[in-house]
Amino acid sequence: MNLPDRDRELHAFLYFSEEEALVSDGPLSGKTVALKDNLCVKGWPTTAGSRILKNFVPPYTATVVERLRVSGARLLGKTNLDEFAMGSSTENSAYGVTRNPWDLERVPGGSSGGSAAAVAAGLCDLALGTDTGGSIRQPAAFCGITGLKPTYGRVSRYGLIAYGSSLDQIGPLAYSAEDCARLLQVIAGPDPLDSTCYQEASPDFSAQMKADCQGLRLGWDPGLVKDLAPDMRAAFEAGLQVYRELGAHLVEVSLPHIEYSLPAYYLIATAEASSNLARYDGVRYGHRAQGAKDVASMMSKTRSEGFGAEVKRRIMLGTYALSSGYYDAYYAQAQKMRTLLRQDFDQVFTLADAFALPTTPAPAFKIGEKSADPLAMYLSDVYTVVANLTGLPALSHPGGFVDDLPVGLQLMAPAWQEGRLLQLAHHFQQRTSFHLKRPQAAVV
Ligand code: GLN
Repeated sequence: MNLPDRDRELHAFLYFSEEEALVSDGPLSGKTVALKDNLCVKGWPTTAGSRILKNFVPPYTATVVERLRVSGARLLGKTNLDEFAMGSSTENSAYGVTRNPWDLERVPGGSSGGSAAAVAAGLCDLALGTDTGGSIRQPAAFCGITGLKPTYGRVSRYGLIAYGSSLDQIGPLAYSAEDCARLLQVIAGPDPLDSTCYQEASPDFSAQMKADCQGLRLGWDPGLVKDLAPDMRAAFEAGLQVYRELGAHLVEVSLPHIEYSLPAYYLIATAEASSNLARYDGVRYGHRAQGAKDVASMMSKTRSEGFGAEVKRRIMLGTYALSSGYYDAYYAQAQKMRTLLRQDFDQVFTLADAFALPTTPAPAFKIGEKSADPLAMYLSDVYTVVANLTGLPALSHPGGFVDDLPVGLQLMAPAWQEGRLLQLAHHFQQRTSFHLKRPQAAVV
């Protein structure tokens, strides 16, 4: 069966490419890779899951994609996502839902749901996602795979369609931490085309990954899991036990400001989104409404027709938070909260080398279950947004099963310490077999 046929049930892909691998002797030779459809590739339709970019073909290619091409990877196509990466289920795509390979009635998570489902179902070896508030880690958890949000600045964002510019990062999705390390190695590093990109060369992630975990101090905050559903909590505690057996020392720490992370995130993300999305006005590219009498009505009609409900909601929320009179009360307060959260973690990392927490409060939910209730949807990001607010690297790896559905265990580390996250996850995966399980829908 060819890829489009294999993807019929899941709808993980929005575009299939015929492109062959460019070189045969790179670090990813023989590997197939899928790209989230908010990454620009010259000559490939790039929609960001939005009607407003239907038929848009970028005139340039994202740096991460250029780097994949010279790594010998074969690029299979573009994967489905929530419109402009806004969502936690991929249901906000203008091009239909993606199904979770573990249970076709459930969501794959989001916004990188297409990338996570494609990897989980064996449609590709590796995938790129983007993570503004959890969009790599949460779908990785829902689909039973590993996903890493690098430190803010580790990976170039040139050619990424922006959502929240102080939060967005591109990162790898794969079954194992080992494969995530290989993919991260290829995409990370300085880029003259992105001035927000870290100037230092990346370390050898695969080498760092191999160091053993003996004596590593792993922090966790009991307050963070006390209200968790019993099964989820049991899975999390069993995961901590594995780390203990690997030689890590568990340290109890606390994050005094964590309860403010979700409101701070949804203020900052919507504020930045409202600014980033101002460029879709029907003038330069993308959809343009027909039959408008003047330029103002053309722009307003274009945006009314082109954006979906969630994107409109966020533009309104973000514009409101930035408006004069409210800026100090909302946006500025949220920015101050970021500093406090960063200080919480500075404190944690004097006591611990890494920090463990659940990835999500529950396993994958049913399609349609939360789509009428935006607040319920936002709550599924409660454990993931803090890594973006603080810029810290975070990884989710398979951490067991609840109700026959995969759940994730999340790790965070000090800035630029992706190697430590990969090290912990890799050794966890040497000892457990969660990441080796495949869903029924996986095509062999
Ligand atoms: N679910 C979060 C949101 O909707 C995160 C999305 C993301 O990381 N792109 O904003």
